[in-house]
Amino acid sequence: MRRNNRRPISSHAMATSNSTLIRRYRPRLRKNRPLLRRFITRLQKTPPRGIDATISALIPGVWKDVKCLSCANCCKTMSPTYLPADMRRISKYLGMTVNAFKDKYLEQERGAARDWMNRSTPCQFLRLSDNKCRIYSVRPLDCSTFPHLGVRFADYGHVHHQNVEYCPATYELMSRLKEVTETIG
Ligand code: SF4
Ligand code: SF4
Repeated sequence: MRRNNRRPISSHAMATSNSTLIRRYRPRLRKNRPLLRRFITRLQKTPPRGIDATISALIPGVWKDVKCLSCANCCKTMSPTYLPADMRRISKYLGMTVNAFKDKYLEQERGAARDWMNRSTPCQFLRLSDNKCRIYSVRPLDCSTFPHLGVRFADYGHVHHQNVEYCPATYELMSRLKEVTETIG
């Protein structure tokens, strides 16, 4: 099954972004990234029983502390993947044909996946003055479901492994999961 998954465009993304939230996370990420990644790899190999329920219980606390409008790091450093339905919906909203939309904003990824992605970063639809999305109501499915925190860990563990580098909410969830799991274990 093809899964939506934003792709990083900038490497060391938290190190280069300058938002308030990223500035707060940068030192923690530098210090804890290897440990956290090893933890996620371990979980992928041997997930503890009830891991999805544990994650669900942690998510509200994460969103209480992490505010996307103080961040927008995903829109600044990654590209969403655009499904055909996304391209139809957004181009209609913008009053363009799908082909004109693709020509103006997107390029097709090289390699096996051949997903359609943004041609430039930050995303052309991000309003940098307030971190709001100019096509919010019709944004790609990948954006509306990002960072995929509430989905089955077995399906998205590899995505969290990537995104601890880019997304403070993912970083926070995985850190809290590590704390809880090691306390229980
Ligand atoms: S479409 Fe909107 S939500 Fe998606 S990356 Fe661009 S600015 Fe961000
Ligand atoms: S989803 Fe993650 S990277 Fe994107 S704005 Fe929210 S906290 Fe930042």
